[in-house]
Amino acid sequence: MSQDNAIEKVIVVGSGPAGWTAAIYAARANLDPLVFAGRPKTVPSTILPGGQLMMTTEVENYPGFPEGVTGPALMSQFERQAARFKTRIVTDNGFTPDVSNPDDGHSYSYHDCKRIDMSKRPFVVVGEDDTEYHAHSVIIATGATANWIGLENEQRLARSGGGVSACAVCDGALPTFRDKVLAVVGGGDSAVEEASYLTKFASKVCMIHRRDELRASKIMAKRAMDNPKIEILWNKIPVDVLGDDMISAVRLKDTKTGDESNLEVGGLFLAIGHTPATGFLEGQLELDEKKYIKLAEPYRSTTSVEGVFGAGDCVDSTYRQAITAAGMGCKAALDAERWLADQGIE
Ligand code: NAP
Repeated sequence: MSQDNAIEKVIVVGSGPAGWTAAIYAARANLDPLVFAGRPKTVPSTILPGGQLMMTTEVENYPGFPEGVTGPALMSQFERQAARFKTRIVTDNGFTPDVSNPDDGHSYSYHDCKRIDMSKRPFVVVGEDDTEYHAHSVIIATGATANWIGLENEQRLARSGGGVSACAVCDGALPTFRDKVLAVVGGGDSAVEEASYLTKFASKVCMIHRRDELRASKIMAKRAMDNPKIEILWNKIPVDVLGDDMISAVRLKDTKTGDESNLEVGGLFLAIGHTPATGFLEGQLELDEKKYIKLAEPYRSTTSVEGVFGAGDCVDSTYRQAITAAGMGCKAALDAERWLADQGIE
């Protein structure tokens, strides 16, 4: 099923900080962008409309919000700004040109992009209902999601701001975590980095690792071992998270003996890796071994396919911040604009 004979100048896939920023820049450059914002998924999920910030309560490090802002409110502002310049969004109500007050709630659902045929130009972008859209250029900004263990209470408390988070840099400095015993799950570089960061605020940080050896690089592992505020609990996995409105303890199981015990904590941080939302691109453009989109040139947004640009956490396993994703969305739109101009498409 084909939409019509129109060829879009640019289609943006994704609706986190990178996707909306790309849309804002593309719209202001008169590229009339069409956005696949994605359907809400239950957590743990692959793509959330609005991205990972929809799971974040208080955002205190996004410049321009001195009093802080909630993740969903921030994403709503991004969307409204894109809508102000007539960004169109694919929904089951057709294209919505006017989402100027998304806080009112939508009476329609945003659509996912199912796949993109990048083997020929114009590219064929296929929506979840099999409608085909044609585009001269595509910006992929589908993000990545933090991995969760998948425990029911972990999810409930993460959603309600109950002291469970998958981002210490985002949430660790909140007053609720001050001078408490905090736990970090994982044994990789992120877990060490997050545990070290949390020692600035916590009275003590317990790293919970399922094996008896860290995966983290030697230098990072040494950093954790040498930090007097960090204790590593070896061979342990969380099997439950306790607490009603606020976390009170983590129930741990020893992976060697099977023994269970409670660890009283004021906060739990997951650092067990991220999964980029790039499964729908497999075989179409180059991904790295962890399935992040490979950029063709450092500091640019170009990919292995000419006319396809990448931005945000789906290309970035290092910084993973809203502000860096937004910056990359800006770069992708500028790269797309220049590339289209080079092709004679204005
Ligand atoms: P990672 O290296 O994949 O480590 C994930 C950790 O989580 C591992 O220790 C793993 O245990 C554990 N884990 C996975 N699933 C689990 C589960 N269901 N339950 C309990 N534990 C679980 O991920 P990462 O630490 O986020 O790092 C990702 C990449 O970014 C790496 O290449 C890393 O070097 C890089 N990075 C670098 C820096 C830096 O250099 N400053 C900082 C952050 C990240 P096992 O070890 O048993 O598999």
